[in-house]
Amino acid sequence: RAKAQRRGNYVIFEPAMRERQVLLLGLQSELGQALRRSELRVHYQPVVTKGGLRISGVEALIRWQHPVHGLIPPADFIVLAEERGLVCELDLWVLREACTELMRLSGPPLGLGVNFSARHFEQPIMYEQVRKILDDTGYPAHKLILEITERLLLTNSVLVLSLLKQFQEGGMQVAIDDFGTGYSSLRYLQQLPMNIIKIDRSFSAGVVEKPEVVRSIVELAHTLNMTVVAEGVETFAQVQALTALGCDYLQGFLFSTPLSFPELQSWLETFQSGRPLRGEGSDG
Ligand code: C2E
Ligand code: MG
Ligand code: MG
Ligand code: MG
Repeated sequence: RAKAQRRGNYVIFEPAMRERQVLLLGLQSELGQALRRSELRVHYQPVVTKGGLRISGVEALIRWQHPVHGLIPPADFIVLAEERGLVCELDLWVLREACTELMRLSGPPLGLGVNFSARHFEQPIMYEQVRKILDDTGYPAHKLILEITERLLLTNSVLVLSLLKQFQEGGMQVAIDDFGTGYSSLRYLQQLPMNIIKIDRSFSAGVVEKPEVVRSIVELAHTLNMTVVAEGVETFAQVQALTALGCDYLQGFLFSTPLSFPELQSWLETFQSGRPLRGEGSDG
């Protein structure tokens, strides 16, 4: 029997193992068409300054609006896209779509975090591809944050270093996503040009009872002139603890789940008018 499971702002149906494997195999063959059929969507999750007082930016998160299976989360298809060699195309599509949509907001452009698969960093052309999308859409380079994972940094390749340098020189920022979950090496943190550490949500979840790990990460980051974003913030107690420990920015369901562009527009109106936020996220 399929059982409903709530993940963020979508409900997915978790079929039995075998059914699920069959479903994923089917998805793999359809993934190539998803882009052309306009089935992909970008959702935006706000990132706020410590204390939760001001919006700093958003993270763009891909979803697949499947005609039969409904809204499919990235965990169910990003790996398939990597295996099929489609992930770079998807990531660049997300960047272009997000830049285009966010330019339609009034006021100064928001910070924009976009997730980039490690696969990009095997391609010297990556920098030019990103640059072109900024040029085409007019999105300011200094507002773009490329989110990469620790795994990538372990490859220790000349190309990774050279691309990271190009992004710095181009005025963009680089964030290490899910920090603390991979095989971190302190050496790469010192050697590679990066700006932001995003602390994995498992540490935000435990910060009230055990603040030591977050404290150490924040100290390390600030020593290296990096800023800190705490991911997965779900309670006010976490906001207090993370703020007291010096986290610069916060992101999580407490402020908002990832939102469609129209939902983001109304969230911004509510947020900027100073009305209190709903404590359960936008769909709560
Ligand atoms: P991520 O980059 O670490 O993104 C944050 C994930 O945590 C999102 O899941 C978000 O919905 C979820 N999240 C945010 N706040 C909370 C919270 O308070 N509690 C909990 N439990 N979860 C929270 P999502 O959207 O399902 O994305 C999962 C992962 O898929 C992302 O993790 C990222 O690694 C990957 N991904 C998403 N979009 C893209 C994309 O466009 N390209 C690539 N290459 N990967 C993507
Ligand atoms: Mg991310
Ligand atoms: Mg993350
Ligand atoms: Mg994560």
